[in-house]
Amino acid sequence: MTDFIEYGSKRIDFKLEYSDRRTLGITVTPGLDVLVKAPVDTAIDVIKERLRKKAPWIIRQLSFFLSFQPRLTDRKFIGGETHLYLGKQYRLKVISYESGIMSGDSVKLKGQFLEVYTRDNSKVKDLVEAWYLAKAKERFHQLAQPLFEVFIKRNAIENADYNLSIRQMPTRWGSCTAKGRIILNPELIKAPKACIEYVIVHELCHLIHHDHTQKFLDLQTREMPEWEKWKNKLERLLA
Ligand SMILES: [Zn+2]
Repeated sequence: MTDFIEYGSKRIDFKLEYSDRRTLGITVTPGLDVLVKAPVDTAIDVIKERLRKKAPWIIRQLSFFLSFQPRLTDRKFIGGETHLYLGKQYRLKVISYESGIMSGDSVKLKGQFLEVYTRDNSKVKDLVEAWYLAKAKERFHQLAQPLFEVFIKRNAIENADYNLSIRQMPTRWGSCTAKGRIILNPELIKAPKACIEYVIVHELCHLIHHDHTQKFLDLQTREMPEWEKWKNKLERLLA
């Protein structure tokens, strides 16, 4: 069954399962579900009281996972629309050209404009997305290299031939594999550089500590003292 509690201005929804156990357990999943497992005879008031006491912890857990939920508003890819690149807004300008005048379609930044030259207006979205992906590949490697070097010195990762992949992920900004490969969402190219660095540092710290424990947080704070500021910015910017 599902139910909820109110805590301050926040509403916390939870899923409740009764089972043959002696204590009450609360977990927060990366899918943002709050799961409560309770002994069969526990009154709902008792469960809600326990949830209220644990609410600060639950909110903290939810906000960790939430920071990796890309929530980008849909764009129509028509002239005049604003598009983000490295945290700055650029206005989309679609410039049509006749065949023969120019050699091919292209995208470039010019002043405060993101200019798209094309013969076919239906291709604007594809052209802009390909441009973002190319920029993501180029810039993520530049930003990651010095950060990887710090972790190579710590022996957290093996060599300078660093492992960075770029992959569209529906619900995360970044992740890492057991073998030490860092995966970044190309959508991150829309965020300021420091936000991108924060996600890289966060994932690199996971190569040493796998959970969001205090040890993990201490390491993350040592490597990037202002991480919280950039985490907040990332959440606000793309919301
Ligand atoms: Zn994490």
